[in-house]
Amino acid sequence: MKKKNSALARELASQQNWFCHYCTLPMTDSSVKSKNLDSAVTTEHLIPRSKQGSNAPPNLKAACKLCNNLRKCSSHTDFKIVVTTLLLSPRMEEQWHNLDSQQRKELNQEIQSSLKQLQLKRSQEQQEQQNILGMRPQTVSGL
Ligand SMILES: [Zn+2]
Repeated sequence: MKKKNSALARELASQQNWFCHYCTLPMTDSSVKSKNLDSAVTTEHLIPRSKQGSNAPPNLKAACKLCNNLRKCSSHTDFKIVVTTLLLSPRMEEQWHNLDSQQRKELNQEIQSSLKQLQLKRSQEQQEQQNILGMRPQTVSGL
């Protein structure tokens, strides 16, 4: 079973030229000695299995171990936005796959709070949208 998973991860990785779906940094083969590195390739379900995500190719991507661990149950689109934004910093890009445990902890906190802000912003926008629609004068219906 394990062997099958890593074969699948490798197949997905080669389709992405061995770049992580989220951080777009190079990944390493998880079947060799790099297994425990943050850059090791993993199979990622865009929609998690726990949310009825399928095991079919459109729902599968190769992602590095770090991204896979950091994403947890957040939406894959939100996570990608947050990671892409963080990696605009060249220093962050340099450190991404070489974090010590303290840095990883801080990064995790930063990501979780950014994800929350993103969700908050989205719900505020929805609320504003609803307010605007609610304020629309109903002139047309009387004609
Ligand atoms: Zn990654």
